[in-house]
Amino acid sequence: LPARYGAGEKSVWVEYIQLAAEYKPAVNLGQGFPDYHAPEHVTKALSEIATGDNALLNQYTRGFGHPPLVQSLSKLYSPLVGKNIDPFNEIIVTYGAYEALYSAILGHVDQNDEVIVIEPFFDCYDFMIKAAGGIPRFIALNPKNTSGTVTSADWVLDEKELEGLFNSRTKMIILNTPHNPIGKVFTKHELELIADLCKKHNVLCLSDEVYEWMAYEPAQHIRIASLPGMWERTITVGSAGKAFSVTGWKTGWAYGPAALMKNLQVVHQNCVYTCCTPIQEAIARSMEFELARRDSPDCYFKALARELMPKRDMLVETLKENGFNPTIPESGYFIVADWTKLANKIDLSQEPDKYKDYKFTKKFAKETSVLTIPPSAFYSEPHKHLGENYVRFCFIKKDENLRLASKLIKEWN
Ligand code: PMP
Ligand code: GLN
Repeated sequence: LPARYGAGEKSVWVEYIQLAAEYKPAVNLGQGFPDYHAPEHVTKALSEIATGDNALLNQYTRGFGHPPLVQSLSKLYSPLVGKNIDPFNEIIVTYGAYEALYSAILGHVDQNDEVIVIEPFFDCYDFMIKAAGGIPRFIALNPKNTSGTVTSADWVLDEKELEGLFNSRTKMIILNTPHNPIGKVFTKHELELIADLCKKHNVLCLSDEVYEWMAYEPAQHIRIASLPGMWERTITVGSAGKAFSVTGWKTGWAYGPAALMKNLQVVHQNCVYTCCTPIQEAIARSMEFELARRDSPDCYFKALARELMPKRDMLVETLKENGFNPTIPESGYFIVADWTKLANKIDLSQEPDKYKDYKFTKKFAKETSVLTIPPSAFYSEPHKHLGENYVRFCFIKKDENLRLASKLIKEWN
């Protein structure tokens, strides 16, 4: 493996999805995906398209995005960022948000460019930066308090430390709001600080907003591209998998000014070229369906958070009652919980892994049949210890499965 890839050969997803296949846990709260159906209009659209009269909808489509989809995305986002987004030059459809991130990073980061990454971070950022020849510079979110009730808003950056990372070699900062795995929704003040530093040092912002529709009131997701002077330096990433609860459709997108999108097109046209046509058509039709009711509470982009909030609360209760200290997320569908008060209940001495959270999650899965994810995977090597006291639970699951998880955890405890 080329040395520049760093430690990319080990993937928490490969390892824990394999564990799920081997252990067959009673409840899988690991990898983030819903265990129930997407809205009916979404899945119905796909079945109609695949078997419908228009044979061309099963053939290649425009490389940078199926025209109806980029047009719907422009309608969706233009009012949200306060700018008319050109569907053909300022939006690209990609193979999941993953490929949007990949094309943005490979398209912009050059040899020895520095990229600021906020920890914990979605693990592929590190690999992609290194694959491009860049140098990740990490800064961790830390909880202001760790006892009593902790919410994702308590996890903050040290402003001086952040400022200190920006220099003449900085090409990009990667922001992830709403945040996986903490559930933090960056506040206006926090985003303005990042925006001011980007403008001062002429730095690009790659904003991963795949959980954009899952902010729980009163938290409100703010798109950094909508802040003054930020459109021209921001590439924003979204995911149909997250927006419509169809993670298996692996379709995402990026939007931003044409001058920046050009570089994503170069990567995309040479490694993917075009994405799946029937899926893009189905997402376009689904998007139109939601746009027609965008002001109604029934719009899925509003209903989703409403549907998830009681699930979050149910899991938070279970965790509190059983000795975990959960960080209550303001968004997304993950909860990180401190497990250290349970250390005396679980014997980790025979677990061969290097990091305590890997040991804990594996033993916990064996003893409770509930599978989770070790958050140290979301930290750089020197900072892995910051994630070791935590475990990540996914709660976009049927209520009956959350109740089963609750029962199993209680019995174990
Ligand atoms: N970014 C974050 C923060 C994620 O959690 C995920 C996982 N869905 C992705 C990007 C990748 O999304 P996709 O499944 O659309 O590739
Ligand atoms: N984003 C999802 C998660 O964090 C899935 C990650 C993946 O499949 N690689 O669980």
